[in-house]
Amino acid sequence: MEPIGVLNDGQIYDLQTAEALNISGDVVKADNSAESLEILRHSCAHMMAQAIKELYPEAKFFVGPVVSEGFYYDFKIDSKITDEDLSTIEKKMKEIANRKLPIQRYETTRSEILEKFANDELKQAVLKNITDDTLTLYKQGDFEDLCRGPHLPNTRMIRAFKLTRVAGAYLGGDEENEMITRIYGIAFFDKKELNDYVRMLQEAKKRDHRKLGTELELFTFNEDIGAGLPLWLPNGARLRSKLEHLLYKAHRIRGYEPVRGPEMLKADQWVLSGHYANYKENMYFTEIDGQEYGIKPMNCVGHIQIFKNDLVSYKDLPKKLFEYGVVHRHEMSGAMHGLFRVREFTQDDAHIFCMPSQVKDVIIDVLEFVDSLMKLFDFKYEMEVSTKPKKAIGDDAFWEATTKGIMDALDSENLEYGIDEGGGAFYGPKIDIKILDAIGRKWQCGTVQVDMNLPSRFGVEYINDEGSKEQPVMIHRAILGSFERFIGILTEHCAGEFPFAIAPTQVIFVPIAQPHVEYAKELQKELLYEDMDSDIFDMNESLNKRIRMAEKKRVPMIVVIGDEEVENQTIALRDRRKREQSNISKEEFFTMLNQIQKGSKI
Ligand SMILES: [Zn+2]
Ligand SMILES: [Zn+2]
Repeated sequence: MEPIGVLNDGQIYDLQTAEALNISGDVVKADNSAESLEILRHSCAHMMAQAIKELYPEAKFFVGPVVSEGFYYDFKIDSKITDEDLSTIEKKMKEIANRKLPIQRYETTRSEILEKFANDELKQAVLKNITDDTLTLYKQGDFEDLCRGPHLPNTRMIRAFKLTRVAGAYLGGDEENEMITRIYGIAFFDKKELNDYVRMLQEAKKRDHRKLGTELELFTFNEDIGAGLPLWLPNGARLRSKLEHLLYKAHRIRGYEPVRGPEMLKADQWVLSGHYANYKENMYFTEIDGQEYGIKPMNCVGHIQIFKNDLVSYKDLPKKLFEYGVVHRHEMSGAMHGLFRVREFTQDDAHIFCMPSQVKDVIIDVLEFVDSLMKLFDFKYEMEVSTKPKKAIGDDAFWEATTKGIMDALDSENLEYGIDEGGGAFYGPKIDIKILDAIGRKWQCGTVQVDMNLPSRFGVEYINDEGSKEQPVMIHRAILGSFERFIGILTEHCAGEFPFAIAPTQVIFVPIAQPHVEYAKELQKELLYEDMDSDIFDMNESLNKRIRMAEKKRVPMIVVIGDEEVENQTIALRDRRKREQSNISKEEFFTMLNQIQKGSKI
């Protein structure tokens, strides 16, 4: 395969740049590796810009970076781009690819660029963020753009691509600025990879949790209430409360104690925690009796004060406190997306206080917890360890011991993990848990974070075996991350076919006629005693219509009730998922449901 660049110290250079700057390193080939795709996709972004320029000569361009979903380019034209226009732009791009234009890098000076783009306010905005005196341009045919690269040697190599969607974007991501147009796209080196990806996108569209959330009446958003503030409808609230209930037990069995901190704390606490200095823009504040209060963006401080409420002996460690903590964080209005990104959400948050020597065992416990939770929902997952960043507090001994503790724990469980060198928080190393869903997408959810910063800021102490005070290590831990995001991911993962244990409705009863409703109500009540929800479909429609309506609700089981069932106290059961029908006694029905329920232990 053709070489297209070199990788040096984590930085990708194209061949022209490597030659000009005399940089050597590992060769990057056109082989669909992450590095090669970055070069391809960014080159594809330029090719898209060239196509747009040819179709809309007035077009002005901002930036066109590579992102996790492919690439995009932000630009401005006089008309509005629709989905149909995307295929026109794609056609033009194919034409440009076939022209086999060489992509040429050349250096120039800042003043020359300022002059060249004198009438282009978007390029002027880009230049504001660049201070270099020598700048580079990439030219293909008669299109050229200010750019650092990396790029492919020619347009012929960009063959398998697709423009995926059009969106609006604030210039430079700043809500104060004007809205310009953004087109997203994707590219691969071969057609098969592209086709697989496009199929995945189509599947993802079908499973979109915003669409399913409406269909299954799980949640909604309402502009009158405010953006990013979900309203949980009865079905969604049932689902969520079942998930909470399952997890509550799982925490208690593992020695966690439930606690609850207040929704808002005096701002002084956020000054002490460092949030006031470093996180203020993401927080909401209010005032009570002339005193400033901050609405919590995290639950750590409340848990610290709860820990400090008692004199804790080393014998009580590790101490595990958990809370379904409701937090508020300011997200830009453009960044919000269904349940994935909201302004209010609930974390399955826990803080474990332990001695440094216990870090490894605590992490092993957490990993076991993660594993059983992921198995229950049929998720595969990956781990990544982030190590000491350049800017960090704490001595080397702390970093060495805790990072080793984390890795030893993962090794002892035979778990594979990636390493993000230098990617840790300034106060400690962490593990990120990445969920892989049914259609191959990766989602960052839970994290396990070792922290010595907050215990030291808040003077957290325990009494050691010699009777003197010592500072514990604090481990922040969330497995789902947030209920909102996790339920969004789970909805798409199982396409709304939730596992029995947390399904909003586990059974739908379909009485054949009015006299059979009574028996259905009786069964419904008995199910509630067993923590299971059911609905009765006795609306004024034909039996067949009601059965079809029930089938569409993605409910695990449908039970039809007629004379025979009422008389013999039996159940005519359709297991929708196993596609089975059976006639069983009421007792057998309840035993069966309880067995399924019990199988969902975490
Ligand atoms: Zn470029
Ligand atoms: Zn925390």
